[in-house]
Amino acid sequence: MPLEMENRLRPLIALALVALMAVPLHPAFAGPLTGKIICVDPGHPSETSAGTRGKRITENKANWLVALKLKAILRSMGARVVLTKTSENEKVTNRRRAEIANAAKATLMVRLHCDCAGGPGIAVYYPDRKGTRFGVTGPSASVISRSRAAAKAFYPSVTAALKGKIKPKGLRGDSATYIGSKQGALTGSIFSKVPVFTVEMVTMTHKSDDDFIASAAGQLAMAKAIATALGAAVKALK
Ligand SMILES: [Zn+2]
Repeated sequence: MPLEMENRLRPLIALALVALMAVPLHPAFAGPLTGKIICVDPGHPSETSAGTRGKRITENKANWLVALKLKAILRSMGARVVLTKTSENEKVTNRRRAEIANAAKATLMVRLHCDCAGGPGIAVYYPDRKGTRFGVTGPSASVISRSRAAAKAFYPSVTAALKGKIKPKGLRGDSATYIGSKQGALTGSIFSKVPVFTVEMVTMTHKSDDDFIASAAGQLAMAKAIATALGAAVKALK
């Protein structure tokens, strides 16, 4: 090759090398949640309650088992996942749960629970106004509006993914809950500095819901539905 040609090719070769180096070594890790931090909060036991129970499984166990499956799926989607508990029966206060999400600078905090009242199905609650607990008033207006946006994207996605398995029960404000009606918001929301919502995954007083969440297949289907919907929720935060 003439020297002149070689000189002209040199910058092109350098460019090609730079482009090659920019290709991630592990493209499998590039997923829809790459760079996102998701705080998964398996509800209970807390300072207020050990949780409800169905005939086949306790709420605490169901929340924990779905959380573990959800963690694995979210990681496969590229997210970093922070759990608020390290073992099923670890007691963590609701304030502390929010503080763990805050310290992690989570993109989003999702709180997993099971209900024991009303009709069967899944319901989602987000902070719709400020509340006060331990002399602290929160969350901020920005957290309220971002939580609402995330929950509004999450709910239709999660209910679509569970169609035919778990009924849609509603998207509501924290103020519609028993604690929220007294405090203004749930304690975990009041102390949250990141977008947050609570998923009442099933209603354990109904046999079909209890059977679903007691089975490994049901827990996996729930975890997959929540993971897919979290993808939509994170997009809504942009
Ligand atoms: Zn609960």
